[in-house]
Amino acid sequence: MECRQEANLAHCNCTYTGCAYHGQCCRCIAQHRKAGELPACYFPPEVERTYDRSIARFIQTRRSER
Ligand code: SF4
Repeated sequence: MECRQEANLAHCNCTYTGCAYHGQCCRCIAQHRKAGELPACYFPPEVERTYDRSIARFIQTRRSER
């Protein structure tokens, strides 16, 4: 199976320029999972740009959307 990095980039909302995993979703999610976090694409833009990718922030964000 080939990496779909170019196609994935069309859906990547991550604004952190210091990361080499943009579009490499398998590496991205593995890294954040290991840290107890979720990838950028789970967060709306205003939360994504805080770089707080914690599960607690994800839950807080989803609750505030109700
Ligand atoms: S969400 Fe995290 S691992 Fe994924 S591209 Fe952004 S900084 Fe890199």
